[in-house]
Amino acid sequence: MTDYFDPLPLGSRRGPPSITAIPLQIEARLSAISGEPASGWICAIKSPGTRRIRRICDGGKLRSPGPCGTPPAVRKPLMLVRTRFAPSPTGRLHLGHALAARVAHSLARQTPGGKFLLRHEDIDAPRVREAYYQGIEEDLEWLGLGWDEPPLRQTSRSAAYEAALARLRENRMVYPCFCSRREIQKEWATMAAAPQGTEGPAYPGTCRKLSPQEQQAKLASGLPCAWRLDSRLAASLAGPLAFHDLRFGTTTANPDLLGDVVLARKDIGPAYHLAVVVDDAFQQITHVTRGEDLFPSTHVHRLLQALLDLPVPIYLHHPLMLDEHGKRLAKRCDSLAIAALREAGLTPADVFARIDPTGIT
Ligand SMILES: [Zn+2]
Repeated sequence: MTDYFDPLPLGSRRGPPSITAIPLQIEARLSAISGEPASGWICAIKSPGTRRIRRICDGGKLRSPGPCGTPPAVRKPLMLVRTRFAPSPTGRLHLGHALAARVAHSLARQTPGGKFLLRHEDIDAPRVREAYYQGIEEDLEWLGLGWDEPPLRQTSRSAAYEAALARLRENRMVYPCFCSRREIQKEWATMAAAPQGTEGPAYPGTCRKLSPQEQQAKLASGLPCAWRLDSRLAASLAGPLAFHDLRFGTTTANPDLLGDVVLARKDIGPAYHLAVVVDDAFQQITHVTRGEDLFPSTHVHRLLQALLDLPVPIYLHHPLMLDEHGKRLAKRCDSLAIAALREAGLTPADVFARIDPTGIT
């Protein structure tokens, strides 16, 4: 708090924070703003080649700093920052994971009392291997990214996901979808313009049009179904929503961005979008850090938080690790597995030195 006000105003002559600011240089020191609601926090974001650029986030709204030298009148207790790293035990960790874990770990360690948590996203059971839980934990420990509470396994949380899904079902925010992948593709082919999501064509909404009687008849016949979020209906009921990201500022949520996403799959039941939102609330995560490829999903997650009355965390979507072709690191890139790098004689410091969002250096 000693250097609370920076002589350089926000968006100073040195320019706003550059998108090239890499996560490891993000120095997010969060502390309460005096005289402000308890939801107000100061976030310092440092970009390469600049002095400190300060942003003040106040309950999701971005404000410029006050006049230089204005001392805080009252200091509120520090927010207890809680972050998490949530890999899937479907393989060993690679450099991209090391980056994600390091971002979450750093954010927690930069604040007094901050906690870094580990969550195993293991609901996609057919792809999970027991040995990978241990592998992930070994790699993190070797990297020096220790966690502060017992790791959470999503497979132990099915009752909570089912309860959340039941609530959405009761409120008619979800509908059963009986389509196969092939049927969805056929439907797209017949449409003049298939609805577009950010990751390709969105679900065409076939089963949304079923009457309650048709739905009941199909369910009663024992046909397997997924449960999809009726995103437009839910968004209209939830009203305007926004979320705040430490890099990108405040964004108005567009819950229809990905279309009617699947919240529960035919094969495994409650799936990623639902589980992550329920668990972030359960683990009282204050800052959700993750790759910027998940930015579109955050729009959906914000809607789910509203529908389920869950607290809204602050986000930090960080750049992804890219390969020499500028593409996202392949998940199965064995030569970049942390274990392989360790066996090749690298130290944790060497591994962190290779973490660079612009490519492997
Ligand atoms: Zn369907």
